[in-house]
Amino acid sequence: MINIAIDGPAGAGKSTIAKIVAKKMGIIYLDTGAMYRALAYWCLKNNVNVEDEKQVEPLLPDVKMDIVFENGEQQILINGFNTTPFLREHYMSKAASDVSKHGCVRYKLVDLQREFALSHDVVLDGRDIGTFVLPKANCKFFLTAQAEVRATRRKLELEAKGQSVDYEALLKDIIQRDYNDSHREIAPLKQAEDAYFLDTSDLSIEQVADKVIEIVKEKVK
Ligand code: C5P
Repeated sequence: MINIAIDGPAGAGKSTIAKIVAKKMGIIYLDTGAMYRALAYWCLKNNVNVEDEKQVEPLLPDVKMDIVFENGEQQILINGFNTTPFLREHYMSKAASDVSKHGCVRYKLVDLQREFALSHDVVLDGRDIGTFVLPKANCKFFLTAQAEVRATRRKLELEAKGQSVDYEALLKDIIQRDYNDSHREIAPLKQAEDAYFLDTSDLSIEQVADKVIEIVKEKVK
């Protein structure tokens, strides 16, 4: 199986690059952030406080998460309900980051991710793929960019979807989320020792994609 890991903080361009790589290689793209978002959404829908592990844990045995693809687009179903349309709202980013720090949540979703990677050629993007989920992935990348650049990218992305969010608020959220993700106890955001590091601040999407694909092709011959 081909397993490619792309990790890094929010707004570094991981999903854009992962989609391009998946398309060029004819393999699947798995967005693991969406899995944390879906679980956070399910908690909120059930009036569960995402910050409180004691409230989150009892909900988990009743959560059956299915990942399906419709016209090549990943859809995350929980107990048959398609959560996908609700996951990109701005407030879901913070909720996903809050819920993702709980061990019970991570182990459940990491199991699903490993199971998926065992049976599919896949490029996964996330925070802990190269370090924790798939330490033996064929090829690992760590993408980052300056926080200001990432906040600007997120603003443009949200605006393209008709959502308007204040730049300063976005920047503050990104810095806070970077801090939470890299300081949590279990599987924090961190570059794997054998990952290729790419700072995308001054690079175009094409430049990053070309570089990543060049490395992938070399590794996955
Ligand atoms: O990548 P995205 O912004 O959709 O991720 C939302 C949140 O999910 C992140 O801030 C992070 O806290 C969490 N996450 C994680 N591990 C992953 C992917 C995402 O903890 N592999």
